[in-house]
Amino acid sequence: MTFEVTILGNSSARPTANKHHAAHVLNVREQFFLIDCGEGTQAQLMRYGIAPARIRAIFISHLHGDHLYGLFPLLSTLNLLGRKTPLPLFAPEPLGELLANVFRRLETELSYEIQYTPVDTRKNCKIFENKTMEVWTIPLRHRVPAAGYLFREKEPELNVRKTAIETYGLGVVQIVAAKRGEAITLPDGRLLPNEALTYRPYAPRSYAYCSDTLYSAKVARIVQGVDLLYHEATYAMAEKALARQRGHSTTLQAAKVASMAGADKLLIGHFSSRYKDESLLETEARTLFPNTFIACEGKTFSIPLKRLQPEE
Ligand SMILES: [Zn+2]
Ligand SMILES: [Zn+2]
Repeated sequence: MTFEVTILGNSSARPTANKHHAAHVLNVREQFFLIDCGEGTQAQLMRYGIAPARIRAIFISHLHGDHLYGLFPLLSTLNLLGRKTPLPLFAPEPLGELLANVFRRLETELSYEIQYTPVDTRKNCKIFENKTMEVWTIPLRHRVPAAGYLFREKEPELNVRKTAIETYGLGVVQIVAAKRGEAITLPDGRLLPNEALTYRPYAPRSYAYCSDTLYSAKVARIVQGVDLLYHEATYAMAEKALARQRGHSTTLQAAKVASMAGADKLLIGHFSSRYKDESLLETEARTLFPNTFIACEGKTFSIPLKRLQPEE
């Protein structure tokens, strides 16, 4: 049961010859979600073996070019491929209107429907869910309205302990009720609390994408306990004033959010093009949050499923 993110691009606004703008692909059990879509995203998808047609939904953080300018060609390519499946697209306004205008003025009728949902960047709310996972918005603090996204697997159905089935001679109806979280009354009148019968088969996994943003304690509260946190760190700690002025974070601020959130692992990126040796930024963040890594282009970060055992 895959849960992994592939970094397609990670650089900040000023273009460089060998790096790409923001785009991450999250694979949750072979459902692919694209988060941000900087220039060159479709070429990057192909380079790293992800078929554009497999994208299930797109989430855009904010309407700055380095997070957005790869979207138009990608949507055109999906049309060229004859996509029929509707494509959910989440982004702050007025992206829906902008896209509709572009395709209308170009006299392009798409082969599929773009199901645009405007994102209220001031709210922390659920905007997407299916059988296995859900996506929540994270209000960010940037120069324009911006939202991060928290992807979370749903709680799995409970497992019933083998020992409980044998000890109490549970039948199918009782097992199904226990899986739903109910207590069981035995024929002799004894009440068995659900905790005595069941256990969680695994811990749900989560990934949060927070870019672009100033430092925000509220972000840390929303992503509490996240397994993998991507937080922008455009500047080194020495440039704190500049970061503040431009609506970005420093390495130490990203590390502080990870630490306050009790995250398991932190990825940092969106570095200013002024830094030639990015390992220094990683080292800086590690002074506060040791489990920090650079979100290197082309790298995939997996979260293995943690199977849980019943306490006997
Ligand atoms: Zn940016
Ligand atoms: Zn921005």
